[in-house]
Amino acid sequence: MDFEFSEEHRIFRVSIRSFAENEIGPLVDEAEKNERFPVELFPKMGKLGYLGLCYPEEYGGAGADTITECICAEELARVCLGITSAVFIPSMSGVMEIYKFGSEEQKQDYLVPTIRGKKIPAVAITEPDAGSDVSSIKSTARKAGDRYVLNGSKIFITNAPIADYIVVVAFTDKDKGIEGMSLFIVDRDTHGLGVSRLKKMGSKSVETGEVILEDCSIPEKNIIGKEGGAFSRILEGLNRGRVTVAARYVGLAEAAYEAALKYSKERVQFGKPIGKFQSISFKLADMATEIEASRFLVYRAAWLYDKGSKCRKEASMAKLFATEMVQRVTGEAVQIHGGYGYMMEYPVQRYFRDAKVGTLHEGTSEIQRTIIAREIGL
Ligand SMILES: Cc1cc2nc3c(=O)[nH]c(=O)nc-3n(C[C@H](O)[C@H](O)[C@H](O)COP(=O)(O)OP(=O)(O)OC[C@H]3O[C@@H](n4cnc5c(N)ncnc54)[C@H](O)[C@@H]3O)c2cc1C
Repeated sequence: MDFEFSEEHRIFRVSIRSFAENEIGPLVDEAEKNERFPVELFPKMGKLGYLGLCYPEEYGGAGADTITECICAEELARVCLGITSAVFIPSMSGVMEIYKFGSEEQKQDYLVPTIRGKKIPAVAITEPDAGSDVSSIKSTARKAGDRYVLNGSKIFITNAPIADYIVVVAFTDKDKGIEGMSLFIVDRDTHGLGVSRLKKMGSKSVETGEVILEDCSIPEKNIIGKEGGAFSRILEGLNRGRVTVAARYVGLAEAAYEAALKYSKERVQFGKPIGKFQSISFKLADMATEIEASRFLVYRAAWLYDKGSKCRKEASMAKLFATEMVQRVTGEAVQIHGGYGYMMEYPVQRYFRDAKVGTLHEGTSEIQRTIIAREIGL
């Protein structure tokens, strides 16, 4: 592997870490307690260019590589996973399709304000009866004159309660099967669009919702690209998404590890810091090793993606390993804290609760294993 971080990557890490600690850190407790995303972060991050790292400069982006995006995801999630999930929607599949396939008008009306933090996006693919199996969605978009009429329901949608617009996947032609899906931009104030909040066990600072589309009539120009083909277009974007998602869990694990390491030096039992007991020091040694292994998988996959190399297997391995690793590391961080780790005053309980979602979204662990098995010829 020839990969190494450039000077630019290193400088970026220093600046995004400082932003995360100083600008996001103070907002976390209240956002987690109230289960409300601090929306003022969008324009703030937009101004600094953090929301459009992967987009070209002509649309207000930074034209940065996936390695830079992973550094951003890792450093933000080290401070707060929930907030990271919300601010990464602008660069994930769905919004990315506006850049890749949308009209110039859509780019100016939606992508540019999104990158500036002036419009908040959500992307709605999952439905109550269609999660891992996206092909079984039921939402439809029927052409009616110069408009489309959308019907259906979506669930677990990140940012839905605060979104200015929602990118929705729906069938325009069911007879074409999976190829009959299209992507639409639905404005928040569209008549017939209903959004309700869902309560979660973790990542409470990101708002997640259910979306109902009841005869939502939207202008024809709100289709992204042409009719059909949405499924394969989204699938194409998944590799990059999986790698940046994996990077978030490396950051979350790092936070748990740092807290546990510090505590192991401070907590004294039987006359010495608990870190001096081999059973605790070995746990920390394993945690450090697993985090480092995940980091290698993540940045290698990002590097392959940036080079234009095939990286489906590597992206799934990074996502699988990082999100399973973070379960172990956050669990051990609580264990090292003893009873204090179970108390709300200590952040390790949040890391532990936040970690769980990693193996569920952006392709569950079972789906990642299915992809890897296929890639190794099974
Ligand atoms: C906090 C959160 C935020 C989310 N944000 C968004 C969002 O912004 N937009 C969006 O569209 N979706 C979002 N999702 C949805 C997420 O992508 C789905 O939850 C995910 O795809 C899994 O679908 P499901 O929950 O319906 O589980 P299911 O697909 O019903 O899976 C249930 C179980 O069966 C297993 N399983 C399913 N199929 C197979 C198979 N073929 N082989 C082996 N095992 C299998 C799964 O791995 C899992 O363990 C979010 C979910 C969460 C929890």
